[in-house]
Amino acid sequence: MSADKWEECPQCLDRATAEHEKLVKQHQEHYGVLSPEEWMEEGRQLDLFNGMIDNTFREDFEWWTEEGKLLGSWRGSCTMCGLTFTHKVGPVRFYGTKEEGE
Ligand SMILES: [Zn+2]
Repeated sequence: MSADKWEECPQCLDRATAEHEKLVKQHQEHYGVLSPEEWMEEGRQLDLFNGMIDNTFREDFEWWTEEGKLLGSWRGSCTMCGLTFTHKVGPVRFYGTKEEGE
């Protein structure tokens, strides 16, 4: 079964951002220690990485009705770090209620 949606994982994004910040700090400390060419190359590699991550967070969700009530189910899980989260909605009775904004 294919996923409904793929997104960036919030946990992987936090980790990648923290790792990038650590590498930026190390790069600053390397100024004057590495040769100018090595320091420039290190900075270039750092810009390429820039804390970016792939869309490894798989989302599956569905909505359905049962006996006049709305139900929903959402599940997300990351193929990299294993973060998993599920959320269920309802049953919500919607018969006879107005739509939002009316
Ligand atoms: Zn993750």
